[in-house]
Amino acid sequence: MSARLFPTHRVMWLPLGYPWRPALARVTHCCQRMAMALEFTCTQHADPMDCPDTALIYHEPFDEYGIPIRDGGTGYLLIDNCPWCGTRLPASQRDRWFDELEAAGLDESDADALPAAYLTAEWRSRRA
Ligand SMILES: [Zn+2]
Ligand SMILES: [Zn+2]
Repeated sequence: MSARLFPTHRVMWLPLGYPWRPALARVTHCCQRMAMALEFTCTQHADPMDCPDTALIYHEPFDEYGIPIRDGGTGYLLIDNCPWCGTRLPASQRDRWFDELEAAGLDESDADALPAAYLTAEWRSRRA
């Protein structure tokens, strides 16, 4: 698939090397159908990006919802509204995440060295 088809909505799962993990229990979604679509219980795949049964993924650190791009990479298409209830989804926190890491002098390419808060929604709530 050509990236040019989706110039502003095709994004990467970052930081690279950061594995998918279930969202924190306190993370809530717009509706039950969204929550069900994001539930991932496949026994054959460790990562929903690899699982053909996964229609949508939620990237907790960035608060992004997306449709996985099945090209073997880690890209997904951002969606702005819930496909079921139509709720406007939260604005991506991707840029802010990078800004905060840079301000803190942290290297985003080293997922193992990042404070755990930056790999969940926690980093956003600390200064709410
Ligand atoms: Zn919804
Ligand atoms: Zn699977």
